[in-house]
Amino acid sequence: VIRTFEGVQTGTGHGVHVGEVPIGTTPTDSGYQLKDGTRGGTYTTDMHGGTVDGGSLFTRSTDSWGDGLPSNRESAAVDAHFGVAATWDFYKNTFGRAGIRGDGAGASSRVHFGSGYRNAFWDDYCFCMSFGDGDSNTHPVTSVDVAGHEMTHGVTAATAGLMYAGESGGLNEATSDILGIMVEFYADLPADTPDYLIGEKIDIRGDGSPLRSMDKPSKDGRSADYWRRGVGGIDVHYSSGVANHFFYLLSEGSGAKTVNGVAYDSPTYDHSTLSGIGRDKAAAIWYRALTAYMTSTTDYAAARTATLHAAEDLYGAGSGEYTAVAAAWSAVNVGAAQPAAPALTQPGDQVTALGTAVDLLVPAVGGSGAPTYTADSLPAGLSIDAATGRITGTPGTAGSTTVTVTATFPSGATASTTFTWAVTDGTGPCPSAQLIGNAGFESGAAQPWTATPGTVDTDRGQASHGGSWKAWLDGYGSGHTD
Ligand SMILES: [Zn+2]
Repeated sequence: VIRTFEGVQTGTGHGVHVGEVPIGTTPTDSGYQLKDGTRGGTYTTDMHGGTVDGGSLFTRSTDSWGDGLPSNRESAAVDAHFGVAATWDFYKNTFGRAGIRGDGAGASSRVHFGSGYRNAFWDDYCFCMSFGDGDSNTHPVTSVDVAGHEMTHGVTAATAGLMYAGESGGLNEATSDILGIMVEFYADLPADTPDYLIGEKIDIRGDGSPLRSMDKPSKDGRSADYWRRGVGGIDVHYSSGVANHFFYLLSEGSGAKTVNGVAYDSPTYDHSTLSGIGRDKAAAIWYRALTAYMTSTTDYAAARTATLHAAEDLYGAGSGEYTAVAAAWSAVNVGAAQPAAPALTQPGDQVTALGTAVDLLVPAVGGSGAPTYTADSLPAGLSIDAATGRITGTPGTAGSTTVTVTATFPSGATASTTFTWAVTDGTGPCPSAQLIGNAGFESGAAQPWTATPGTVDTDRGQASHGGSWKAWLDGYGSGHTD
């Protein structure tokens, strides 16, 4: 090897909002370009207050950019360049998505767009982001949540294509807020502690308040906390409140809560008490719904269905996540409170060899709020997690017991299920046990079987032999295959 050349550099940036961060740059004969060779070739240009053409690429002799102050033209460029990179990394490492369109192409950024321009926007035509400098050209609209928000408009355009008007417009805006704050959480910057607030760094109102708050969207004086007839008729940046609120409740639950030092207090339309499933799962459900089920005309009712489908795909129809999605939509007045009355999944009779570790989940389905689980007559050595219904431990004594698991909901409603649990030591008669998985389909799904959609149901026109669920095979009075 006579000579090697590293074409990818990591420079140091000092942004207005992002603080000191590493940024991707490209070396040239005379210095460096603000162009990132690792993320689809994304680059950042200076519009010098103009609004047409692409601007001029930032270059400099050393690989240290900006000084953290808006007066240095590179500082806002560092924000934008970092925000685009963080958004790229978030989509790639979280969902395996290669860029906005999923085709590996990087978007470009234009900073110092216009004069006193208090906004930022995504443009599908130039496949680029534009950032204004805000009031007096000293408050650049370049925070990482704004970058994530704007670029997510490009993802939405490339996937569901939610029309930017009516309820689909509100869902389009909410998608950008939801995944925008997820980019902020992903970046996790010391200079921009992640939160469920949109635009808290850019001070667009001049009074220090954020642009939008997801825990209670009406804090901004305009946004809708709950669905109502006609909500699609208000500005899409306010009708988005319904879905933003849904996302917060699904992630963190209702009531007062402090996350990363920020205090939230999230109300519910139906006065239900919700516990969250965490923002990572909530975002995975939203992204799956966006990319697999939502279309240009999806409204709030259809968004509920889309996210329930997504939760079923990711976590199962009887899962706590599925139930939580239904409850969170109901808490923002979209759809019925619960898909079903509370019930416990029947796990089937259990046979365990003495000294073998056990891990059995007996989850509740339906019901409102998070239940507390208890179990009677578990084999010695086993215990149930009160919060999750997971039974773990190692049985230490042979024998057979009849176990009853009970879930108690906040309302006082209970559901229970009973099964036998035989612990064998290799001697004596073989214990009787149900060895067929999900024998009565009482989990509400076919697994571990596979079935034609609609075969497993609770239709009472032809009631099940026992319990609520059954698999209805043919019997339509005409030729039919299940
Ligand atoms: Zn937007």
